[in-house]
Amino acid sequence: MPELSFAHPALLWTVVAIFGACVGSFLNVVIHRVPRGESIVRPPSACPKCKRRIRPWENIPVVGWFALRGRCAGCQMPISWHYPLVEAVGTLLAVGCLWQFGLSLHSLLSFALLAAMLAVALIDWQWMIIPDGISLGFLVLGLAVSPWSQVGIWASVVGAVVAGGLLLVVGVAWEKLRGVEAMGGGDVKLMAAVGAFLGAVPALLVIFFGAFMGAIVGGILMRRSGQAKIAFGTFLAAATLVVVFVGQPLIDWYTSLLRPTG
Ligand SMILES: [Zn+2]
Repeated sequence: MPELSFAHPALLWTVVAIFGACVGSFLNVVIHRVPRGESIVRPPSACPKCKRRIRPWENIPVVGWFALRGRCAGCQMPISWHYPLVEAVGTLLAVGCLWQFGLSLHSLLSFALLAAMLAVALIDWQWMIIPDGISLGFLVLGLAVSPWSQVGIWASVVGAVVAGGLLLVVGVAWEKLRGVEAMGGGDVKLMAAVGAFLGAVPALLVIFFGAFMGAIVGGILMRRSGQAKIAFGTFLAAATLVVVFVGQPLIDWYTSLLRPTG
């Protein structure tokens, strides 16, 4: 049996890009079905209007949508451009992780976390919910793989408790002070999962960036429409992307500032 060799780098990049696109395609199913309480396995994808089954070649990530010119081949109903976009972002995330972290377990775990965050970002934006299957699923996964990850088991447990706990405390305090629910329990569970994957310090950075971005966008919405109910999970997901790629250099730079010189 010929050994699958990645001696040629172009092959590795191609395989990883296709893998990312296929994960993106799966995320489309998750994003569409999970908030509606539907199974992500059955039935096979079909046009919501004319019920025509999606043919295998039409299901090819990104390419299928362009080949169909963004319309169902049966009834010409437009198919949202969100589908190829999520597939393209999936590709970018996979290639970005390979670029940044090489072919490693850390790379695979980073990609898994970011793929989940992509689904969370879009589901929370649209539905204002973060499905437990994703948040609790990734909390368990993050803890389970931690003995072999760069984080380690204790840092993973501490990360989950600190990040989830902080949001819980802030949420409860806010509710007591203002009498309105500031954060859903979904955000708490999501941050526990992020903490389990990244450890406490990067997870706190995620909360900081997420709150910062959320405050800016919330402020803009407030000015425009007088209401600022934002999906915090979407911003936490975006902040996780930032921290996975540039968090460690930022933390190193910051600690170097604190270190006494001379
Ligand atoms: Zn159709």
